[in-house]
Amino acid sequence: MTDPFVVVGADAAGLSAASKCRRENPDRDVVVFEKGRWISFAYCGMPYFIEGRIERLSNLLSLSPSEVDERGIDLRRGHEVVGVDPEERRVSVRTADGETFERRYGDLLVATGGRAVTGPFDVRETDGAFTLHDMDAAAAIDAYVADPEEYDPDRADVSAVDRERVDHNAALPAPETAAIVGGGYVGVEMAEALTGRGLDVHLFQRSEHLLPPFGEAVGERVETELADRGVAVHTGRPVEELVGDDRIEAVAFDGDEFPVDLAIVGVGIEPNTELLSGTGVELGEGGAVRTDEYGRTNLPGVYVAGDCATAIHAVTGEEAWMPLGLTANRSGRAVGATVAGDPTPVGEIAGTAVVKAFDQECGRVGFLEKEAAIEAGFDPVRETVTAGSRSGYYPGAAETDVTLVADRDSGRLIGGSIVGSDRAAVRVNTLATALEADLTVPELERLDLAYAPPFSPVWDPILVAAKVLNGTLEG
Ligand SMILES: Cc1cc2nc3c(=O)[nH]c(=O)nc-3n(C[C@H](O)[C@H](O)[C@H](O)COP(=O)(O)OP(=O)(O)OC[C@H]3O[C@@H](n4cnc5c(N)ncnc54)[C@H](O)[C@@H]3O)c2cc1C
Repeated sequence: MTDPFVVVGADAAGLSAASKCRRENPDRDVVVFEKGRWISFAYCGMPYFIEGRIERLSNLLSLSPSEVDERGIDLRRGHEVVGVDPEERRVSVRTADGETFERRYGDLLVATGGRAVTGPFDVRETDGAFTLHDMDAAAAIDAYVADPEEYDPDRADVSAVDRERVDHNAALPAPETAAIVGGGYVGVEMAEALTGRGLDVHLFQRSEHLLPPFGEAVGERVETELADRGVAVHTGRPVEELVGDDRIEAVAFDGDEFPVDLAIVGVGIEPNTELLSGTGVELGEGGAVRTDEYGRTNLPGVYVAGDCATAIHAVTGEEAWMPLGLTANRSGRAVGATVAGDPTPVGEIAGTAVVKAFDQECGRVGFLEKEAAIEAGFDPVRETVTAGSRSGYYPGAAETDVTLVADRDSGRLIGGSIVGSDRAAVRVNTLATALEADLTVPELERLDLAYAPPFSPVWDPILVAAKVLNGTLEG
């Protein structure tokens, strides 16, 4: 009998792989080990749950354990994989009760995701200090922000929730002033969420602009939007310390302290790869596990997918690490198909990302920063234009900023961003498609994009930007 396909981690990458494998090959035994109690959750929805836009935590769950069972998958929650023996094709597992055992695998997928980086900040022991990288944190923040008299325990309506932590936070006096440390997409989404909950929000960003991967044009527009909505944006302000013994009292920087009663630290993530230490597995960009176009590692029969895996960059063809939701689902699904006998590439990534800041929608793809583009071997030329989102006479038209970056020698489009209040974000998918197809800027300018007054001007903002960049390239 063939040893099972063992999957470690029961979220986007892991369950996509397990489900796809069973669908393609119902005779294959599939075992999923998940160290926690949660499975198949949507981290991406957590800021909107905290904001109150999403009513119940259960709304963020997709597959239930019984649905996983119906797919013929042997799901073991409360089972942490603590080691891998690639010679013997065995994993070591520790249960929540403290028991340990070993299990043989035919193929192994490590889909263990990442964890929040906390740098010098100790968020574990201090009430009111949080990172946001698990569902229990979302439930705890939601409870902490609420007035103890008004908190509705049904908001955290999932049996897996850490009820003790929720109850503890719900009993604390509601905060009034929040510091968000880190102006990346989680920081920006949380600034909106906490403002929506009535807090006085201060967003601290180390560099001069918010959302650095989205480029300056987007960062500037978002800063203005946040300020207009009452968020105090402190750019060029690296927070050095969280102050407070039992409960957060202040954030400290430049020898100064700023009093707060809530702090959210969102300064990045790192991949969970410990279970593979000592196996000789090769690591790559960002400390993630190096994988090939099928998600294979250098260890026989061992695949890695999702936030803990590298991928191939669509523009450079080189290794990259950009942990995002579609990448995780897609790479997991591909590995599931491959293991079931249908070799399927995991696909390339271009860092295509979108984020909302109140009414501003932002999108980015490929290379926006000059230094990164030069390091990748390009001679970048960049233009930013402001264009209308619909025909000027049609109600709802809004100014949309499009930035395009091209390589001077080849004229190839290598990156772009977009920001505006009128369906701007989804327009970035045109740029993502252009990047994947290796289009030059003249080819982009000649795309037959749709026009009708309620949706777009005759010249879509992307075509306007391509025209301007083309002029610069020719000039
Ligand atoms: C607040 C927030 C907002 C986000 N918003 C977006 C967005 O809008 N768009 C987007 O594209 N992406 C977004 N993301 C990123 C997206 O959620 C991740 O890319 C995605 O969840 C990665 O899926 P994964 O399966 O690789 O890992 P994870 O979702 O992290 O799942 C890994 C699983 O493995 C388990 N595990 C870890 N170690 C072990 C072990 N040793 N043994 C057993 N089990 C283990 C974990 O408990 C976990 O259940 C957001 C993330 C956060 C935190």
